Amino acid sequence: MRIVRAIRALRQWRQAPSVSVQRIGYVPTMGALHAGHRALLQRARSMSDVVVVSIFVNPLQFGPSEDFAQYPRTRAADLALCRDVGVDLVFLPSTEALYPADFQTSVTVSRLAQRWEGACRPTHFQGVTTVMTKLLHLIQPQWTVLGQKDYQQYVVIRQLVKDLNFATALVMCPTVREPDGLALSSRNRYLTPIQRRHAPALYRALRLGQGMIRNGQRSPQRIQRAMTELLQDTPELTIEYIAVADAGTLEPATTIRGARLVLLGAVRLGSVRLIDNILVRAPR
Ligand code: AMP
Repeated sequence: MRIVRAIRALRQWRQAPSVSVQRIGYVPTMGALHAGHRALLQRARSMSDVVVVSIFVNPLQFGPSEDFAQYPRTRAADLALCRDVGVDLVFLPSTEALYPADFQTSVTVSRLAQRWEGACRPTHFQGVTTVMTKLLHLIQPQWTVLGQKDYQQYVVIRQLVKDLNFATALVMCPTVREPDGLALSSRNRYLTPIQRRHAPALYRALRLGQGMIRNGQRSPQRIQRAMTELLQDTPELTIEYIAVADAGTLEPATTIRGARLVLLGAVRLGSVRLIDNILVRAPR
């Protein structure tokens, strides 16, 4: 497994005749890798000649009061997991390599990035789309493998790829969960034992909404109210949003019948912020 830190070395590798004919599967990550990331890497491995993973805690996607400094960094274990899955190349750039002192360009997806996560974290998606533009430009993968866990991020990156004509196909992998439903996240390690016990409430609320839709509930407001009430049963938890939205536009759902919907939510438990979502195709 090759580990590359410098942009120039990555370019040289990418342009080598032996690599340029290969089909590359790419998994962007911020490290602190867990079984959710492993599933993405395995998917990339199963479909590609060459698997590239980037590990970069991107400062641009953290707000000034967010957890950039505390974000877990577990380099040795990350590299061991990558080796185990059969990754070919790990791109491990420094912040200075990607953002030299005179860096002054940003890439913004407008409407899709403004709702939900974008409303709570106003500079987040601009950071994501700016770094993804750089990484896709450098790596030029045939496939880019992303997790449903960050569904809005997937939709925003899909728009970025379409609008800027990147020649990569996106592959979305299902969310990997703990046995009690909590979505795996690098941040889960910061939950206290009591918070950990409360954390699956978010997934339970989403499942409640999914069950209502399957049972014929046709009012987005009722579904949203029921999910909110379930979360309110756990006073330790602060709701940032919990909603029923169109899975394509991410606009709040106005009709349920026959729609492709995403139920999505974000909550805080102490200083830990959790997000999750479920995709639902509503019956006609
Ligand atoms: P991150 O390292 O948090 O930036 O995530 C890197 C990629 O892993 C993103 O595409 C995430 O959606 C995906 N991911 C994170 N957690 C999970 C999970 N529990 N299941 C599936 N994919 C995940």
